[in-house]
This record gives sequence, C-alpha cells and structure tokens, in this order.
Amino acid sequence: MKLPIYLDNHATTRVDPRVVAVILPLLNGEYGNAASRQHEFGWRAEAAVDMARERVARLIGAKPEEIVFTSGATESVNLALKGLDGSKRAGEKHIVTVATEHRAVLDTCARLRGWGWDVTTLGVDGCGSVNPEDVARALRPETVLVSVMAANNEIGTIAPLGEIGALCRERGILFHTDASQAVGKIPIDVREMHIDMMSFCAHKMYGPKGVGALFIRGGEPRVRLVPQMDGGGHERGMRSGTLNVPGIAGFGKAAEIARDEMGDDALRTSRLRDQLVDGFLASLDDLRVNGNPDRKLPHNASITFERAPADSLIMAMRDIAVSAGSACSSAQPEPSHVLRAIGLSGEEAAATIRFGLGRFTEQEEIEYTIRRVTEEVRSLREKAHHPVHIH
Ligand SMILES: *Cc1c(COP(=O)(O)O)cnc(C)c1O
Repeated sequence: MKLPIYLDNHATTRVDPRVVAVILPLLNGEYGNAASRQHEFGWRAEAAVDMARERVARLIGAKPEEIVFTSGATESVNLALKGLDGSKRAGEKHIVTVATEHRAVLDTCARLRGWGWDVTTLGVDGCGSVNPEDVARALRPETVLVSVMAANNEIGTIAPLGEIGALCRERGILFHTDASQAVGKIPIDVREMHIDMMSFCAHKMYGPKGVGALFIRGGEPRVRLVPQMDGGGHERGMRSGTLNVPGIAGFGKAAEIARDEMGDDALRTSRLRDQLVDGFLASLDDLRVNGNPDRKLPHNASITFERAPADSLIMAMRDIAVSAGSACSSAQPEPSHVLRAIGLSGEEAAATIRFGLGRFTEQEEIEYTIRRVTEEVRSLREKAHHPVHIH
C-alpha cells in the first residue's frame, strides 16, 4: 500500500490511465486545431472532438448537438445562469436555488442579484434534502429558472431531480442542475428528469481538469442564452475559443468508461464506504454521519467526530488525504455553509471530515484509515479532556 492515501475524490479524481492513453497522442503528434477545416491535422482534431461529444452525450441521455464544451463546471454554471440575463426584461428576473449549492452557483446568483435579479434560496432538512413542495411554493409568475444541484459535494445528498424537473416543466420554468458530483457516479438522464440545462466537468469523473460541459436542451420551447465568451463562434456560438482537444477527448473517454463501469464502481465504493463508516461506529463514540442515508452518493462519507477538531485531525494524519468541509471553502476559516444548512453548530461543522472514495480506493486503504482516524480521534479527545499544562 502506498502512502499518502487519497480519499478526497469530491475535490478531484485521479485521471484514469485509459483516459491518459487517449490524451497523450493529442498532445504529441496530433496537435491540430479542431476549427482548421483545410488540412488533416484539423480534421483529426475535429474527429476526436466529435467522438467525445457523442460519448459525453450518451452518458446523460442527450444528443451530441446539445453539449457545449467549456473549461469546467464553474464556467458552465456561469453561462447557464448569467446567459439568461440578456434575454429577460426587468420584472421577469427571478431564480430559485438552494442553500447547499456549490459556490459556483451561489456566487453567480449573488452576481445576478446585483444585476437586479430576485433570488429565492431554499433551505434543506437535516439530511440536506430539498423538499420539492418547497420548490413548488417558491415559484412565481416571473420565475425564469430553478437551479438545484444533483448531488452535494460535501455530504453526498442526492436531490429528487425528476420530481423538481417535472414541476418546472409543467409551469414552463427552466430547470438547471449542477451535476458535477453526480454525472458518471449515478445514473442521470436529462430527458427522464426534465432537465433543461446541466453543468458538469471531467475532473470529478476520472478525466482531466479544465474541461467541462453545459448540456442545453434542444427543441421547443427554445432555451435562449446569451454567450458569455465572444470570439470565433466555436461551439455553435455559445462558447468561443479554440477547443481544448486533448482535454475534451479525455472527457469523452472518461464518460465512456463511466457509462460501462458506473454500476460496478458504485457497488465497490459503497461497500468500502459502508465498511469505513461501520469501522468508525464500532471503535468510536459520539459520531454523527451526515447526509441522507437513503439518497446518498455511493462514495461519500461525511462524519462529525465530536470533540475532535477537523483541522487538528487532518494535520495529525499527513498520510491520509481528506478534507474538512469543501476544498473550495477550506481557504476560508468560516464553517462550511452546507454543514450549517443541515443544522450543525459551528463547533460540529469544524469537527467534520469529508471522505471521498473512488474507483482506485483499495480495501487495505480503508482498513488503515479506520485504524489511523480512530487512534487520532481518541488522542485528540484525551488531550481535550486532560489539557497539558506547561510550567
Ligand atoms: C467541483 C464542483 C464544481 C466546480 O467545478 P470546476 O470544474 O472545478 O469548475 C461545481 N459544483 C460542484 C458541485 C462541484 O463539486
């Protein structure tokens, strides 16, 4: 077993070696620009992008022409939400979202608020679940869009996308979902779930960083978006700029593998995750397992170790890569907004660790992690109970 052990797969994932094998030739000999129409280099790059577009679309039940490649989920979310601004008049600018969304959505909504939009931010229950009835009650005649994340990046709670999608469709309101943590991990079908727009990225599903996609439903009624990036008119004018051909091809390969192996991956990681949680429960008292036990990502475990501050725990365990709260907010000292939204106190939130298992997690790594965490939690609790006095 190699140390350190990587259990931070919600922050990013290892690039699958089969994906690396697709990327490398496109960095070496086949470096063409997919927009070069006049020679072999360009045609080959375009073919690689076309194949990737088909693979990504197939994973989510979309058509290839409904996929816009971007630099990642953050850009996709910005395009989906800000792109609505130019097409709406004052008086019809209302968005409904949820308190536990990723900063990509919350901060974009805050920007829209500055542009005169009205934003309703719904709360969640103690498991992090949003109630579709609350969504229905928040809808107004001027509501343009509902944005609800597919699965939470801290506590793994999966949203009832199909129900929310259906009620939006019925009212003629657009439904966007940030599915960065869900695509490739659990089945997502944009048609079945009545999704109009969906943001996701490659690096959370064993693909490269810096590449993502926005699904924009085709057909009537048309989803009208104003592009946020002007230039050469790439991606049907929705996102100008030379395509990241190696990244996009890698994304496609990652999507193909996910489609074939999602079921096996989910089974394997959920068994290991259950073993991890059961191991902690058997060896330690005063734990809280966060999230919704019935609707949870198979590879997530968010655990509050009472009286054991997460930053001290992480510092003491340099051999295990985990995170306290989300990676994006860990530069800020404030407790995670997600953990606060499910009712944890500041102290409880600061004693919470997120374990993110993945395709490459091994049984012995889980056994080691149970031993190490148990040891360190016990030692931290001891110290808190018997403070060391320095004379
Ligand atoms: C990682 C993540 C993002 C941001 O994705 P990038 O591709 O890194 O921009 C957005 N939302 C959620 C839920 C995420 O987990």
